[in-house]
Amino acid sequence: FRILHGSRDMALSLVDLVQHFGVIDDTLRVVGQPQTVRDVIGAPALVKRGGMVEFRKVSFSYGSAGEALHEINIEIPAGQKVGIVGPSGAGKSTLIHLLQRLYDVNGGSISIDGQNIAEVTQDSLRRSMAVVPQDISLLHRTVMDNIRFARPDATDEEIFRAAKAAHCDRFIHKLSEGYNTVVGERGTKLSGGQRQRIGIARAFLKDAPIIVLDEATSALDTESEMEIQRSLVRMMEDRTVIAVAHRLSTLSAFDRVLVVDQGQIVEDGSPLDLRRQGSLFDRMWRLQAEGLAVENT
Ligand code: ADP
Ligand code: MG
Repeated sequence: FRILHGSRDMALSLVDLVQHFGVIDDTLRVVGQPQTVRDVIGAPALVKRGGMVEFRKVSFSYGSAGEALHEINIEIPAGQKVGIVGPSGAGKSTLIHLLQRLYDVNGGSISIDGQNIAEVTQDSLRRSMAVVPQDISLLHRTVMDNIRFARPDATDEEIFRAAKAAHCDRFIHKLSEGYNTVVGERGTKLSGGQRQRIGIARAFLKDAPIIVLDEATSALDTESEMEIQRSLVRMMEDRTVIAVAHRLSTLSAFDRVLVVDQGQIVEDGSPLDLRRQGSLFDRMWRLQAEGLAVENT
């Protein structure tokens, strides 16, 4: 920070600071990442429609390393549910990070409902999409506040409704002080499955047309896994879903699977189509069925 350079610069630094912290959205995942992305001056807000997503010849590399993605083309109609699979390091996370515009593309463009995401305000882009991360970090606040975080102006009633939809309601009522129980680092510890359902409740509250999902890799107990599947299926209704899927078995709920390998889309089709002999998807499927390969981070 340039605090030592007089009050004018200091004011500028504060603007930077606000811009930095403005990007802390419901996922909290952006904290600490380099902010290379800026709004174009006078950028309009993204106009939300159905949630159609398009990648056009998108290439991207992190610094001087080779390309993480090479000329990716994807067209996702509004409401389609797309699973992304592929070996570790293939470029799956990069793909969903670019959609959130955590980085700008090096070539090509990404658009939502026909609007280039690099040309609209980041604030409006964030409102168009709910990100359910693999492992959410909870604030050292009440359960209520933790859900409200997704939309600070939500009423209590709306929060209860989101929690019910995400199948959180029952476990929350069992906590010592229900919705007023303080959770997080130094508060009541919630299990991985419970935290994930809080993340899903946040997504319901946000009510965005696009859901970006990073499925949990860690094994959850069977009961919470079933509950999570149920809440996810409900959340996915009427929304565009783009999910990095680690358990191939859950992909039957998707309309379409994209197989990513070495920064390119190598297979694209319905889960059933892709089970054909000799496909990379089929090979991954069989390895996972034998319990040999679960590494798909
Ligand atoms: P996946 O999610 O499929 O495992 P990633 O999208 O995380 O793959 O990574 C794609 C490629 O980009 C890999 O070669 C990885 O090493 C590289 N990569 C990912 N994140 C970074 C980063 N922050 N800095 C440099 N290279 C990265
Ligand atoms: Mg990844």
